Amino acid sequence: MTEPGIIFKEIHKYSIHAFELQEHIARIPRQIKAQKTRIERMEKEFKDFQDLLKKIKVSIHEKEVSFKELNAKNAKLQKQQNEASDNKAYDALKTEIGTTKAEISKVEDEILFAITEQEEKTAALPEQEKLLKTAKAEAIAIEKSSTERKAELEKQLTETSALLKAAESQLSAEHLPKYLRIVQSFKHDALSPLEGKTCASCATEITSQMMNEVRSYQFVACKSCNRLLYLSEQEERVFRESEAADEA
Ligand SMILES: [Zn+2]
Repeated sequence: MTEPGIIFKEIHKYSIHAFELQEHIARIPRQIKAQKTRIERMEKEFKDFQDLLKKIKVSIHEKEVSFKELNAKNAKLQKQQNEASDNKAYDALKTEIGTTKAEISKVEDEILFAITEQEEKTAALPEQEKLLKTAKAEAIAIEKSSTERKAELEKQLTETSALLKAAESQLSAEHLPKYLRIVQSFKHDALSPLEGKTCASCATEITSQMMNEVRSYQFVACKSCNRLLYLSEQEERVFRESEAADEA
C-alpha cells in the first residue's frame, strides 16, 4: 500500500492543477462577454455618428430655407423703403432692414460652419466603419479560439479530476474520512509541503517528531493550520542525500 505522504504529494499536484483549470475555464465566458460589450459600444458610437451626420444635413436644409425667407423679406422691405411716403416710415424700415441683414449674415455663417462639419464627418465615416468591421472580425476570432481553448481545458480538467480521484482512492479507509473533512474546509488548498521544518502554508515550524513522521510519509496534519503535510521534491532530495551521507 502507498503511504499517505506520497499520495498527498500527488493529490496536491492534481488538486492545484484542477483548481487552476477551473479558474481559467471560468474566465473564458467573461472574456467573450467583454468582447461582445466592446462591439455593442462601438456599434452604438457608429450609429450615433451616423445620426449626427443626418442631424447636420437636416439643420443645413432648415437654415437654407430660413436664408431664402430672410432674403425675400429683405427684398420686400427694400421695396417698401423705396416706396416710403414719409421719413418716419423710411427710418423704421431702415432699422428693420438692418436687423434682417444681420440675421441673414448670422444664418450664412451657420450654414458655412455646418457644411464644414458635414464634410469633416463624412470624410471620417469610412474610417469609422472600417474600425468597426475590424473589431467585429477580431471579436469573432477571439470567441472562436476561446471556445476551442475552453473545450481543451475542460478535457484537461476531466483528465486531472480522474487522476485526482485515483490518487484519493489510494488513501486507506482509516485516513480517507479525515482527509475528506480537511478537504471540505480547505478545498484545493487542503495540503501543504514542508519548507525545511516549516509548513509552507502557515509558516509554522513543526516538531522533530512530526518531521520524522512526514519523512516516513505518514498521515500528518499541521498543528497550526490543520493542512496535511508532505515533503516537497526539494525536501525529499535533501533528506535522501543526508540519509545516504549517514550510511556512507
Ligand atoms: Zn500549517
